[in-house]
Amino acid sequence: MANTVQYVYFFSEGNGSMRELLGGKGANLAEMSNLGMPVPPGFTITTEACTQYYNDGKAISSDIQAEIFTYLAKLEQLTGKQFGNPENPLLVSVRSGARASMPGMMDTILNLGLNDTVVEGFARLTGNPRFAYDSYRRFIQMFADVVMEVSKKRFEEILDQKKAEKGITEDTQLDTEDLKDLVARFKALYKAEKNADFPTDPKEQLLESVKAVFRSWDNPRANVYRRMNEIPYDWGTAVNVQSMVFGNMGETSGTGVAFTRNPATGEKALFGEYLINAQGEDVVAGVRTPSPISRLAEEMPAVYAQFSDIATRLEQHYKDMQDMEFTIENGTLFMLQTRNGKRTAAAALKVAVDLVDEGMLTEKQAVLRVEPKQLDALLHPQFDPAALKRTAVLGRGLAASPGAACGKVVFTAEDAKAWHDRGEQVILVRLETSPEDIEGMQVAQGILTVRGGMTSHAAVVARGMGTCCVSGCGEIAVDYGKKQFTLAGRTFHEGEEISIDGSTGNIYGEAVPTVPANVASGDFGRLIAWADQYRSLEVYANADTPKDAAQGRAFGAEGIGLCRTEHMFFEESRIKAMREMIVADSTANRKRALAKIMPYQQGDFEGIYEAMEGRPVVIRFLDPPLHEFLPTKQEDIDEIAADLGVTAAHLQAVIEGLHEFNPMMGHRGCRLAVSYPEIAEMQTTAVIGAAIAVTKKGTYRIEPQIMIPLVGEVKEMKFVKDVVVETADRLIAQAGIEMRYQVGTMIEIPRACLTADEIAREAAFFSFGTNDLTQMTFGFSRDDAGKFLDSYYDAKIYESDPFAHLDQKGVGKLVETAVALGKKTRPDIHLGICGEHGGDPSSVEFFHKAGLDYVSCSPFRVPIARLAAAQAALKYPR
Ligand code: ADP
Ligand code: MG
Ligand code: MG
Repeated sequence: MANTVQYVYFFSEGNGSMRELLGGKGANLAEMSNLGMPVPPGFTITTEACTQYYNDGKAISSDIQAEIFTYLAKLEQLTGKQFGNPENPLLVSVRSGARASMPGMMDTILNLGLNDTVVEGFARLTGNPRFAYDSYRRFIQMFADVVMEVSKKRFEEILDQKKAEKGITEDTQLDTEDLKDLVARFKALYKAEKNADFPTDPKEQLLESVKAVFRSWDNPRANVYRRMNEIPYDWGTAVNVQSMVFGNMGETSGTGVAFTRNPATGEKALFGEYLINAQGEDVVAGVRTPSPISRLAEEMPAVYAQFSDIATRLEQHYKDMQDMEFTIENGTLFMLQTRNGKRTAAAALKVAVDLVDEGMLTEKQAVLRVEPKQLDALLHPQFDPAALKRTAVLGRGLAASPGAACGKVVFTAEDAKAWHDRGEQVILVRLETSPEDIEGMQVAQGILTVRGGMTSHAAVVARGMGTCCVSGCGEIAVDYGKKQFTLAGRTFHEGEEISIDGSTGNIYGEAVPTVPANVASGDFGRLIAWADQYRSLEVYANADTPKDAAQGRAFGAEGIGLCRTEHMFFEESRIKAMREMIVADSTANRKRALAKIMPYQQGDFEGIYEAMEGRPVVIRFLDPPLHEFLPTKQEDIDEIAADLGVTAAHLQAVIEGLHEFNPMMGHRGCRLAVSYPEIAEMQTTAVIGAAIAVTKKGTYRIEPQIMIPLVGEVKEMKFVKDVVVETADRLIAQAGIEMRYQVGTMIEIPRACLTADEIAREAAFFSFGTNDLTQMTFGFSRDDAGKFLDSYYDAKIYESDPFAHLDQKGVGKLVETAVALGKKTRPDIHLGICGEHGGDPSSVEFFHKAGLDYVSCSPFRVPIARLAAAQAALKYPR
């Protein structure tokens, strides 16, 4: 044997556990074959072959080619058909299939193996020339589109033109001669575009298609999808080559997709759609409107019974809701795919909880089943019911993905992205969506389509993203050219506001106000309660106001990990005192201004302590550079100068004096307190004063935690801490009560990580500020990285945004270093993280493994973090 690696597997050689090698689709086809289900035979070219293709400079090595053709010969033997033989042709599909299901990858090619001679034989053999030519025109279109990049829209235009010439509306009304004519026109288009004849050799067609699948792993859409879903580039995709079965043979044939449970609600009942006399993607592409699966029970009772039996077996086998594709060829059922079905967050919770009740899953397994990120969809606003009552329904589509969305109408994915980038909320309105729209769909508040059912691309992708979607509203007339659509006699231009309800399918011709979500529902409550039993990380919220604190509590936060004090200064009533403090030219004046701010701060802290009912609250001292509080426009400068009783020129000079070349690395954080200890003194007074006031009320005993930001050296920590301790001890003594308090630091400078053993001598706790730590470690800022990160993704230098998902290799190593050094000096040091990463599931897993005590994130992500922490603990017990 020349090569020892096996690059091709027959379905019968694989099984469901081989998804890394065979991809999800291939592994499940193998598994279904092994279960004795009716799967058309075929083979899988492995993900390793894909990796090898890239290693070989984008070429399929002769060894791998030989292996493919050996398996093709086996397939010929098994089916008794022959590739390229007009007397008895073997036709195959070529299907991509990565480890994780990935829209945005290559479209499937069906009916491969046809050419002018084979199609004639195929027509004779089946006695159905119309069918043979229908298959042929589909093949030419798919191959040209997918392999040779002649846009399928061009072919659809020819098809529409042909139908218009004939005065018909449905593809099924085309007769054999029409289809022959279409084949001729399609080939002419191909030749005009490619300067070559359409390839006639089936083996060449096959190899070119396999290469196209491998290439598609690296296309822009796939790269965007991978980044959104943290799928590593080096996984590669597998290719499935499978003998064809035909749903387009006539009235006893058809094709469909179905779920074992309702993917929108989780309800336990077969849910799906099918089309008679149709092939492959016809159902999902929204070409014709399909029939609900329940109708199959009347139309073909035996097939329905067999299918529903298979569906039940598959669900029990995989112990999860399945999403299946099937084709009926002349009354015989074939299974073409099964996978764990994508579902809405509500459905995910219901299915997980139901499967526990049905005895199929344990509580632990159920906790691992629900994707934490998905919960997000449940945590966001719904339409205000009162406002909804007052609003007339303009039209109705299918309730394809639940949620409430309101925004300005746009008509292309690019526009959606552009409008979103300038801060607009948009509703993407399309005839139908396709994988190239993925980025636009991601940023849209909601998606509205004219065509397509509950399993259309728009519906499936929107549910996966947790984005609201109404699909298949046929009454809408879209005019892409004029960027407008008409519904119920009203015309909406780009930029006009509409609202859509993905739970009812209703469309409203205006902005409808929304109200916060209710997460106390039964399934949610049960699952998150199981999760809470298993996690070892505590989950806190980042909250600056009593309102945010209450929101965090409502979502289950066990404390506040980051209370930023500067946000309190921006309010109308306080900013003036703050500015007075900044322009003060003496310590005495500064103290006078600070004294004005103090009561506000103390009041805020009291509110937060009350809202948290005695749970831990970590208050961070003033952090941003002072110029952020000062005006920039001349008219504001004049007005404020007058307010402050200084000349505009003086204020201008102060502002100029505060100018910094690199403010994020400038005079901020604890450096402010080193220059102006009176700021730390005032803030300590407010924190301790609030704690004393609340403790004196007698309901809770508060133990304040003060966090010094941006420490990089133990001596600066000690300097600020001395001010805090001196002030706090004096106040506590004056109050005549007993109160413990802690002074800790935020770890956000690489030097702090490297000298954490020294810093831990002074700091009672560390809280990793991973936003700044990421910024300082990479040496680029979150606000500027957007400009160049795209080129880094394209060049495969970085695979994901380090500000969204923690860079475990670099920043993670600093975190681990700081944990180890900190514990060396202070074994009981309390460890947390309060950056954006605290609510990101893969980062949470890392923090669990790193041995932190808690994560803190924005209130809306608290439930996500709770579930992610439980999953981390179940996967990596500590
Ligand atoms: P996707 O990953 O986009 O779902 P698939 O590879 O599953 O792509 O195929 C697209 C469509 O073609 C599906 O409807 C599928 O059932 C159908 N199909 C794929 N292979 C065959 C085949 N061998 N015979 C008949 N239909 C097929
Ligand atoms: Mg597809
Ligand atoms: Mg499929």
